[in-house]
Amino acid sequence: MARILIVEDNALNIKLFCDLLAAHGHEPEAVTDSRTALEAARNFSPDLVITDIQLPHVSGLELIRMIRADEKLARVPIMAVTAYSAHGDEERIRAAGAQAYVSKPISVARFAQTVGDLLKDGGADDPSGEAQESWANESAGGGGGGPSEPGGEEL
Ligand code: MN
Repeated sequence: MARILIVEDNALNIKLFCDLLAAHGHEPEAVTDSRTALEAARNFSPDLVITDIQLPHVSGLELIRMIRADEKLARVPIMAVTAYSAHGDEERIRAAGAQAYVSKPISVARFAQTVGDLLKDGGADDPSGEAQESWANESAGGGGGGPSEPGGEEL
C-alpha cells in the first residue's frame, strides 16, 4: 500500500484516479486547488504524486518544480497527467522533474502500470517508449488540436 497524492481540478478524473488506486490497495488523497498542493504534500508525505498539468493558478509544471525544490519532497516520484500531446511536452514535463506521464484520456491499464513502476523503482527513468506510442496517432499535417482533446475542453 502506498500513499498517493493526486492534484487534479477535474472531479471526474479525481474519482477515477481515487477508485483505481484504492482498488489496487493504495491510499489516495486528492487536492483540487494547486495553490494548496505543496503544503498538502508536505503534510501527507506521499510515496507518489500524480499531478494534472493543466491546472488553474499554479500549473502542473510549476508544481513539479516546486516539489523538486522542496527539501522534504525532492525525491518523491511524480507522475504527470496531461490532456495534450504536443511535441515537446514530454521534454518539458521531464525537465521539470517528473519521472513519468500519461496522456488523457486515461488508459486504465497504462495508469496502473505506470503507478506500479514508479512505486517499485522509485522513479528511475523508464525507456519504455511511452512518448513514441503517445505521438503515434498524431497526424503528419499537424493542424488542429491533439488527438486526445475533443472539443478543446479543459480537463
Ligand atoms: Mn485540468
